[in-house]
Amino acid sequence: MTKTVGILGAGQLARMLAQAGRPMGFKFIFLDPAEESCAAAFGEHICADWDDEVALRQLAQRSDVVTFEFENVPDSTARLIESLCPMYPPPRALFKSQDRIREKSMMQELGIPVAPFYAVASRTELIAAVEKIGLPCVLKTRRFGYDGKGQEVLRFEEDMERAWQVLGDYELICEGFVSFDVECSIIAARSTNGETVFWPLTHNLHRDGILMISMAPAFDQGLQEEAEKLLQVLLDHLDYSGVVALELFLKDGDLLANEFAPRVHNSGHWTIDGSHTSQFENHLRAICGLSLGDTGNAYRSLMFNLLGEMPGVASQNAIDQQPTSGLHWHDYKKSPRDGRKVGHVTVCAESEAGLKAKSAQLASELGVAAELNLETVLQK
Ligand code: AMP
Repeated sequence: MTKTVGILGAGQLARMLAQAGRPMGFKFIFLDPAEESCAAAFGEHICADWDDEVALRQLAQRSDVVTFEFENVPDSTARLIESLCPMYPPPRALFKSQDRIREKSMMQELGIPVAPFYAVASRTELIAAVEKIGLPCVLKTRRFGYDGKGQEVLRFEEDMERAWQVLGDYELICEGFVSFDVECSIIAARSTNGETVFWPLTHNLHRDGILMISMAPAFDQGLQEEAEKLLQVLLDHLDYSGVVALELFLKDGDLLANEFAPRVHNSGHWTIDGSHTSQFENHLRAICGLSLGDTGNAYRSLMFNLLGEMPGVASQNAIDQQPTSGLHWHDYKKSPRDGRKVGHVTVCAESEAGLKAKSAQLASELGVAAELNLETVLQK
């Protein structure tokens, strides 16, 4: 029998889930208040608000299982769906991830190392937090932050007032600034039957808080095992099903957690072309209780996010004609907007040298070589 998967959200993650699931025989229904939906090409789009109970009931009734593509689905929406049909990942994971204080407190209780942090609700609490943590530190909104939005780095005492002017209207968290050596993420899939698999720890490079590059494999087995151990604790605690990503800082050989995302993750997009099984396929397998696919690398892979506007097909073709062949372009079919994630391209190669050469060339063709400091990733 054809399974129908309902997805809360109809953006690029929903689109890539559907792209992975359609060949497997799944049907998709998306619910998203936004009229423009890049997932709609692969299923039906119910355009309704998150609190539209009639529409939510319709989604649940027509779906065998419901999942979500982003963290800001209101908790009440997730709980309603959960009361009507199977919903994975579990809403309790969503709830924890929606508030940085809740999230970091849970990680701390579980023994997952995090930077020191304090909740801040007034100027006085900000001053007290900075006194305890020391400078530099980072002031962030507790909720709705993404891609580095809603964050201010405090380096000097006078930054406190400036940051308060920008963020003082929100509930905040002040946390220690981690002068990390690199950023990385570990992604796992856990099936409803408990089977768990991990993809190789991925090396990430951000610019202005936005993910620009992800590369895997990039780290040794020891660090891989350490990252898996941290994520396993979280999976067990949340009795989790589906794909989850844990974002980490690596400093002096130690891992420190930044945040977790209870969904498929941008730093796992390379798995579509570079892994034996993509995060999208394994998410669907996991939430439907199917056995999980092999998460080993088929190729060494490096993904570039494409922001603002997709290079046209002619430019893509011109780049493909170069010795840099074997590139995998993904166009989310979103209308162009400054800084918006509109697609990604993954470089796959058999050898490390091949990956380096192809990636350096692609970065230069895309005009991002200088600003990205690709060397910091490729010299690993
Ligand atoms: P976030 O929204 O928490 O994922 O932060 C976006 C990016 O900001 C991270 O990937 C880091 O590059 C940077 N960042 C966030 N928190 C910290 C921190 N406590 N110390 C240093 N850099 C940070």
